[in-house]
Amino acid sequence: MIDARELEGLEPHVLFNTRENAAANFGQQYNGRSILEKREYATIIYVKVTDGKKYYAYNTPSRGSEHGLTDEQFNKYIPKGAVATAFEHTHSNDDYGPGNNYDDQNFSDRDKSYAGELNLDAFLVTPEGSLRCRTNPVGCCAEFNAGNNLLLNNPSAIPSQINFTDAIRPRTGKVVPMCDNCKTTFGK
Ligand SMILES: [Zn+2]
Repeated sequence: MIDARELEGLEPHVLFNTRENAAANFGQQYNGRSILEKREYATIIYVKVTDGKKYYAYNTPSRGSEHGLTDEQFNKYIPKGAVATAFEHTHSNDDYGPGNNYDDQNFSDRDKSYAGELNLDAFLVTPEGSLRCRTNPVGCCAEFNAGNNLLLNNPSAIPSQINFTDAIRPRTGKVVPMCDNCKTTFGK
């Protein structure tokens, strides 16, 4: 007999209809233990097309330290054919007090730069239990963000259906070559 607690342990890779639902489920499953253990948890949310329909899931979360997670600690595995669409993490307990205020209710500067390095949108689950979302403004490649938005806004789109016109750098007028990440992601 399997009880509900055991089923909850299987939530990584469970498919959700929206990215927000996947993000919220990660919060429900991992914020409590993050706060109790005073450790941050982080995951990658990915999108995957199954039987012509788009689904969202998060991978097996990684457990970090009290105020962060190293890139080596972070599990970036996603199933073959899936596309990473967001980075999500918890902030464990709230650290208030003299010299010890990490502003745990908000994205840190490091969070923002790390999301930029990953070229992903970011979700944060705060100690008070809210879910914050941040759209990645500084992706390395204009195509990725545009393509990702297209995928998110068009439920029937699949990555290889997306066609890009050449991106032009506004300041120089030069054509920006598509990065390897996009070529792989969008099957070009
Ligand atoms: Zn953070």
